[in-house]
Amino acid sequence: MIDLRSDTVTLPTPPMREAMANAVLGDDVYGEDPTVKRLEALAAERLGKEAALYVSSGTQSNLCALLVHCQRGEEFIAGQDAHIYKYEAGGGAVLGSIQPQPIEQADDGRLPIEAIAARIKPLDDSHLAVTRLIALENTWNGKPLPRRYIETVKSLADQHRLALHIDGARLFNAAAALGVDAMHLAEPADTVSICLSKGLSAPIGSVLCGSHNAIAEARRWRKMLGGGMRQAGVVAAAGIVALETMTERLSDDHARAEKLADALRQQGRFEIDGAFTNMVFVETASHLQAALVEHLAACGVCVAPGRYATMRLVFHADINDDDLGQVINAFDRFDGSDTTR
Ligand SMILES: *Cc1c(COP(=O)(O)O)cnc(C)c1O
Repeated sequence: MIDLRSDTVTLPTPPMREAMANAVLGDDVYGEDPTVKRLEALAAERLGKEAALYVSSGTQSNLCALLVHCQRGEEFIAGQDAHIYKYEAGGGAVLGSIQPQPIEQADDGRLPIEAIAARIKPLDDSHLAVTRLIALENTWNGKPLPRRYIETVKSLADQHRLALHIDGARLFNAAAALGVDAMHLAEPADTVSICLSKGLSAPIGSVLCGSHNAIAEARRWRKMLGGGMRQAGVVAAAGIVALETMTERLSDDHARAEKLADALRQQGRFEIDGAFTNMVFVETASHLQAALVEHLAACGVCVAPGRYATMRLVFHADINDDDLGQVINAFDRFDGSDTTR
């Protein structure tokens, strides 16, 4: 199957398997796994931060960041459709007693500066929670946030003594699309989380990067959350290969997404939104969607039915040009006329 549901479906590459088999290991909770340490040092260096922490998932990484920046009864500002607010089971509220303050994202993924400013609570009113953190997501729905915008949010945060966290699950996609170094996009933020297990093809893991102090604190929260992993170097080894060899090639995924969007526009059957980095969004009449998903599956193309009438197609390292041709062909052969059941 050509699996376009998500870049999380990527399998570890042969060099990752080899690195995993040969990884030098120790007990990381004792601070004795050299491979985990090497990955953390590499991630910190790539993002221009003092320190880094290897965690089990992007969700755990974001939660550790929330717990570092906010105390019980304090709040963070994030997008209404941000992962950290919407798709992490309310972890900050459940486990940290931290209140989210969601804000509607603009179409391009930005939180409008005036909207953020309007939601930062004045400190002299005891009715209100204390605002502590602004969380951005880069990319959001494939859309990259440029450095200039991030800087503007940072100066607003500074004015109010708030911290800035970037959920950079796909930060390297943003960097590739904008033609800048990931470090450049990470620089204004206090903490940045990156996923190794999405477009970078590692099997497991994320890395939270920040100052020595923030990461030392995050390490304690990770232990409390049950995220202290012993010989974690066996998977961290794949993360090292991911950072060393898989970031440059992301622009190939972006180019294929672009080609698919162009081809589907030419077919003229569906409304196409994107491509944005490695994602293409296909609008279908909602009564056609199930039939389309079924037809694509019969053609060997696996897509997830979208929420509402939008289908998201995601390109990644396990999709090549032949696969792209097959996907375009499969869309072309879809006969929407006999599917009005
Ligand atoms: C996938 C994702 C996460 C969470 O990562 P998991 O490893 O699935 O927990 C966080 N933020 C964004 C933007 C993501 O896409």
